[in-house]
Amino acid sequence: METRRNFLRISGLTAIAGVTQMDTVFGQMKNKPANSSGKGLKLSFVPYNLQLKHTFTIANSSRTSTPDVLTCIEFDGLRGYGEASMPPYLGESIVTCTKFLSSLDLSQFKDPFQMDDILGYVDSVMEGNCAAKAAVDIALHDLVGKIMGQPWYKIWGFDPADSPNTSFTIGIDTPEVVIQKVKEAAPYNILKVKLGMSTDKQMIETIRSVTDKPLCVDVNQGWTDKNKALEMIHWLKEKGVVFVEQPMPKTAIDDMAWLTANSPLPTIADEAFQRLPDLMKVKDVYSGINIKLMKCTGMREAHKMLTLARSLGMKVMIGCMTETSCAVSAAAQLSPKADWADLDGNLLISNDPYSGVEVIKGKITLIDQPGIGINTLKPVF
Ligand code: MG
Repeated sequence: METRRNFLRISGLTAIAGVTQMDTVFGQMKNKPANSSGKGLKLSFVPYNLQLKHTFTIANSSRTSTPDVLTCIEFDGLRGYGEASMPPYLGESIVTCTKFLSSLDLSQFKDPFQMDDILGYVDSVMEGNCAAKAAVDIALHDLVGKIMGQPWYKIWGFDPADSPNTSFTIGIDTPEVVIQKVKEAAPYNILKVKLGMSTDKQMIETIRSVTDKPLCVDVNQGWTDKNKALEMIHWLKEKGVVFVEQPMPKTAIDDMAWLTANSPLPTIADEAFQRLPDLMKVKDVYSGINIKLMKCTGMREAHKMLTLARSLGMKVMIGCMTETSCAVSAAAQLSPKADWADLDGNLLISNDPYSGVEVIKGKITLIDQPGIGINTLKPVF
């Protein structure tokens, strides 16, 4: 609050003096750290197992829970919250995440606005550990947004009215369960269907027997023959599918480039694409990318990827893992500039400790609340 009061006071003084307000304000902020206590950032973390409402099956795995680590960065009486969600196939775990977070010394940073230095340091400590890095990045963004008194979509200059519909994911299951899940997805305007098994056409026909909503599909690398994949994409287009995510293995680069060149639907890279430099590798192979905070170390790099992908004329989708409302609300801050959002991770778990961004009539609805816009439902820190 002290910082905000200072900001307002400085704004008033410079207006009276008739000088360029923002230059003076930023100049004074630069010279005068916001930290009145003189202490550095304090990072806390706690493991938290996410319980899934339904067993979740995709082309190559099945699970009932997801390991997660919740984080908190405290500074000058304010707290920012973050999290690392770690589905097992990505190689991170509660053990690797807590080891990584324990190795960090954020107390050396006395000014949270120096995000580039802080997150550059976090990225340099060890290779990999992208979800663990995202847990720090999200908490720092939440904290800085709270100090500024603004949500990140505003800081970035996005119009919340531009936020897209979010898809609701239907995992691979028996026709009875699939029909039940489609009924549960009634509030959503677009459904994401997991394919990549021998039952693909049956899955689509089952869903089409109960709804005519637009669909998108995620094959999770499940198709290996490019000609069959193209045939399938033509069939899916006839069934009202709007794009195809990761149809072939991430290593099948030439086949995938051919498929994209011939596909009547946009193709989206997910497993084939992780961090900013990967964008140049996939730009001529897929039509677009699926940005996920847990893959790319958080909001800072995600924002850079969004900007670069847009400048390259690529489609952009904002996705998530099974996560709490914390990371989902953080990702949602970017959603006004995305073509599609797949931000249902918090809706798939039964023990969310936070509330945040809401889906109203199927559309992501950002609220005017500082930081990433979440509230604590049960105290964790
Ligand atoms: Mg995917």
